[in-house]
Amino acid sequence: ERFDEIDLGEGLMQNIQRCKYVKPTPIQKHAIPIAVAGRDLMACAQTGSGKTAAFCFPIISTILKNGLSSGQSGRGGTRMMAQPSALILSPTRELSCQIHEEAKKFAFKTGVKIVVAYGGAPIQQQLYNLEKGVDILVATPGRLADMIDRGRVSLKMIKHLALDEADRMLDMGFEPQIRKIVQQMGMPPPGQRQTMLFSATFPDEIQRLASDFLNDYIFLSV
Ligand code: AMP
Repeated sequence: ERFDEIDLGEGLMQNIQRCKYVKPTPIQKHAIPIAVAGRDLMACAQTGSGKTAAFCFPIISTILKNGLSSGQSGRGGTRMMAQPSALILSPTRELSCQIHEEAKKFAFKTGVKIVVAYGGAPIQQQLYNLEKGVDILVATPGRLADMIDRGRVSLKMIKHLALDEADRMLDMGFEPQIRKIVQQMGMPPPGQRQTMLFSATFPDEIQRLASDFLNDYIFLSV
C-alpha cells in the first residue's frame, strides 16, 4: 500500500512526499480511510506507531476539501475569539509541541493554520497566536479550559476532535477538563462532528469516554 492510493488531496500529498512518507504504517493504513470517510474511531496506538499522521492527514485533507475559514470571530466582546474547526487534545507540553511541529509539515503551504497551546508557559503569546487565525488547535486540556474561561476560544465550529494518549490524559487527572471542553462543543446531530480517540490501554474510564463522545465508532487495534 501507498499513500497515493488514498485520496487526500494534492497539497497534502505533496507534503507527505516531502516528509518522505511512502508506505503507511499499520495504524495509518487502517485509520486514514475510515477517518477520511468521516467516521468516528477509537484506536489502540503506541508511541512511534505513526498515530500523529493517522489523525492529522484526515483532518487536514477534510479542511482543505471543505475550504479554509481560519476561524476567528468578534464575539468575545472587544477581543477576537478564535474559532478553530479542529481540536487535538494531548496530555503534555512535549507531546503537543511534537504534534504541532509534525502537523505544520503536513500543512506546509496549504494555508491551514495550526496553533499550539499548553500550560507551564505564559498564556499571552499563545492567545496572540490564536488571534491571528486558527484552523487546527493542538492543546493540553488545562490550558485550553483556561482559554475558554477567558472567552478567547470558541469550540462551536469544531468539526474534528482528536484525543491523543487518552489514557495518559485521564491518568493525569484531566477528565473534568476534557468533559468541560467537549461540552463546549455542544451536542451535534450524529455525523456533524468527527471524534477520534487514541489510547494505548482501554480501562473502563476510556470505554466510558468513548461511549460518551463517539458516535457509531469503529474500533481499531493493530
Ligand atoms: P508518531 O507515532 O506519530 O509519533 O510517529 C513516529 C515517527 O515515525 C515520527 O518521527 C514520524 O515522522 C514517523 N512516521 C510516521 N509515519 C510514517 C510513515 N508512514 N513513513 C515514514 N515515517 C513515518
